[in-house]
Amino acid sequence: MRVGIGYDSHRFAEGRKLVLGGVEIPHPRGLAGHSDADVVAHALTDALLGAAGLGDIGALFPDTDPQWHNADSIRLLNQAYLRVLEMRLHLVNADVTVIAEQPAIARFVDQMREKLAGALLCGPSDISVKGKTNEKMGFIGRGEGIAAIAVAVLE
Ligand code: MG
Repeated sequence: MRVGIGYDSHRFAEGRKLVLGGVEIPHPRGLAGHSDADVVAHALTDALLGAAGLGDIGALFPDTDPQWHNADSIRLLNQAYLRVLEMRLHLVNADVTVIAEQPAIARFVDQMREKLAGALLCGPSDISVKGKTNEKMGFIGRGEGIAAIAVAVLE
């Protein structure tokens, strides 16, 4: 068994779609980033890569490479997982915490689990997603951005 942890954060930006766990969430602002800035997918990707000892998302999909501009991060997650499978490892389960003051993500969690599970060739019951506020503290509390933490177990 191998375990990996992933963290990501992106700041809010005007005129961007908000995509979390592959799900487009209605919100006045989206997240800034080279790709679709999906912090959930990015944190989970880093957790998988960390567990497999394969480095991190920035090494695999450099933001200097134009092919990842506005990339669908669910696709990146899937690509990273294919690398994991090549190491003869597979996902047992993953758990993600999304830290955001706004929006509340509870009603989108099931859709996110479906999307993430699709990329990871597993069932939604193997992927947990939960939301948390930061109790109005710090950059998240001030509504400057969203962060996510993920843990993945590989066998
Ligand atoms: Mg990111």
